[in-house]
Amino acid sequence: MNPVEKAKEGVVSTAYSIHKEGLVFETWGNVSCRPTDDRIVITPSGIPYEQLKFVDMVVVNIKGEVEEGRWKPSTELPLHRAVYEARTDIRAIVHTHSICATAFAVSRQDIPVVVEDQAQVVGGPVKIVEYAQSGSEELAFNAVKALGKDGLAVLLANHGVLSVGSDLPSALQRCRIIERNAQIVLWSKLLGSPFLLDPEEVARLRNCFLNNYGQKNNV
Ligand SMILES: [Zn+2]
Repeated sequence: MNPVEKAKEGVVSTAYSIHKEGLVFETWGNVSCRPTDDRIVITPSGIPYEQLKFVDMVVVNIKGEVEEGRWKPSTELPLHRAVYEARTDIRAIVHTHSICATAFAVSRQDIPVVVEDQAQVVGGPVKIVEYAQSGSEELAFNAVKALGKDGLAVLLANHGVLSVGSDLPSALQRCRIIERNAQIVLWSKLLGSPFLLDPEEVARLRNCFLNNYGQKNNV
């Protein structure tokens, strides 16, 4: 199977996961993958997740022109394109509207690091992106700026989560962990003020994850 066809399978499977796990609702949220330098595979606009199939994936070139597919691409294509253009290390993007993380986005507060999994997989707080309308070039510009050279996830103000990675499983894992961490922060605020992990400890945990955790190289 060629890289584009393989990417279509990965994007569909990731889209099913975010829907099944309640990280997105109805037809909102989107997923993409960049299997080669000049091709992006992205979910179509406004098709219910339950109906999504391999053949519904949209293939666009780096300029955003549709090369393959029967549907319009996600309206967040400008955001995906801008991130891929700015960061050659990124090969996959998952955008969710999960509830607890979005509560932080609505409050325009970063999600701090309180447990090891966010430290390990995100490597720091999830920072808030300056507000712009969804689907706009302005939102794409603001998100790229907030991600910087090595950011792995940001919160789109009054909107949701944008997670990136070197592949789809790592971008998906980040979305899950961000939502879990956001829930823990919210619950801990009911008990008092959560103790945050300090930046040195976060860096140590991230480094340990990249070099020592599990059976393979992490990203
Ligand atoms: Zn959205």
